[in-house]
Amino acid sequence: MITLRLFRPHAPSSPVHRARRARAMRRASALVATTVAAWGSAAGAQAVTTRAAAAASSKAAFHAARVLDPATGTVMANGVILVDHDTIVRVASLTAAAVPKEYGAMVELGDVTVLPGLIDVHTHLTSSQASYYDGLFRRSVLDAAVRAPGNAKRTLEAGFTTVRDVGAGDYLDVALRNAINAGDLPGPRMFVATTVLSATGGHGDLNGFSPYLRIEGMGGPVDGIEPIRKRVRTNVKYGADVIKVTAGAGVLSEEESVGAPQYTQAELDALVDEARMWGRKVAAHAHGGEAIKRAIRAGVASVEHAGLIDDEGVALAKQHGTYLVPDVYTDVYIIEQGPAMGLPEKILDKERQLRKSQEQNWGKARAAGVKFAFGTDAGVYPHGDNAKQFRYLVEVGFPPLMTIQMATVNAADLLGNAKVGRLTPGAYADFIAVKGDPVADVKTLEAPLVVVKGGVMVKGAAGDTKPKR
Ligand SMILES: [Zn+2]
Repeated sequence: MITLRLFRPHAPSSPVHRARRARAMRRASALVATTVAAWGSAAGAQAVTTRAAAAASSKAAFHAARVLDPATGTVMANGVILVDHDTIVRVASLTAAAVPKEYGAMVELGDVTVLPGLIDVHTHLTSSQASYYDGLFRRSVLDAAVRAPGNAKRTLEAGFTTVRDVGAGDYLDVALRNAINAGDLPGPRMFVATTVLSATGGHGDLNGFSPYLRIEGMGGPVDGIEPIRKRVRTNVKYGADVIKVTAGAGVLSEEESVGAPQYTQAELDALVDEARMWGRKVAAHAHGGEAIKRAIRAGVASVEHAGLIDDEGVALAKQHGTYLVPDVYTDVYIIEQGPAMGLPEKILDKERQLRKSQEQNWGKARAAGVKFAFGTDAGVYPHGDNAKQFRYLVEVGFPPLMTIQMATVNAADLLGNAKVGRLTPGAYADFIAVKGDPVADVKTLEAPLVVVKGGVMVKGAAGDTKPKR
């Protein structure tokens, strides 16, 4: 029997999700009773009497010492976030007494800085960090499926409430996204790319081995205009929110020079044209100058990695409004951990070449006013460590506030979704709380004390001061 199930991406919460949310609300309200003393005995009494009402009404009020607006860098003292179901109603500096009664007792987050839930625009939640040959030959799609829910949970608890997942085998990412949206698994909001479009012998193919070894399953290499158009349609048919292409060679594959282009201009033009017809943006993997320029000319929304971008590429990115996604933490990780992971010398060499010039090239793009978004290639390194990239971005010259913008407002703009990456009325109630000032020290983002997704506290508790790990 075939069961048809209509899927709406990022659909309103399911009954399961609502039940879970009600439970979380009740838990939060119970905790409030113990921490609300700071707000006065009248409020304390009110907390007890309105606890049930608050849980039933699906309205909640969260208070924090500081609320950061990443778009401007301004900090609101005594910020209160009013939430109805999964959506923000209002963010304002309010006293407990000024909060409308239907929101019930305030959930006290304490001496923390609240900011929008973080967004990683380059993850692979269905890939797990593995040694070279384990990853290539010893694991199947079943191994990937078993590990994916844990990866999603760790990512969410690390404060990443939204991800753009750019490449998975066998539509595993669609299954994971749908299970999360249905409330069956904890995880970030996922925008998924499904199978990566890659040329024969390209970064997405299996290279350097016997002709008897090749990629099985759904996906695999695709060449030429008509097959590329068909693959885009197939991916959209099975649930792709975004299209991913490897426009040039990569690091973790044994093909030629890391800078080499791997699709013709005509192929990339057709790919982007087809994706556009179906209302999908394109993310292009490209390290090298020529591959980057072809991808930008074709009209991709973002170039991933972009470490070898040249002056002409910078000018084109500026002109076309193309985002660059500099995943510097993976580079650090591969150089440090690569030998232990069993990566061949050829691959380690590619990585070292990249590291030499990417800082300078990204700096030129930044100076020219090119747009950047935060993406990490999670899956190459262990999931949940996504926020470690902030400190390395700062180390290679990105201003701290800009790195936070890259992971919030810029990432939301790249996704084309106005409901994530900001704390404004109508946006999803997705936010995190960190100790201290994340602009002064981006490392605080590595250990969020509280994570709220869609108004539900998925990590931490009211009044917490220590991360729960
Ligand atoms: Zn990737």
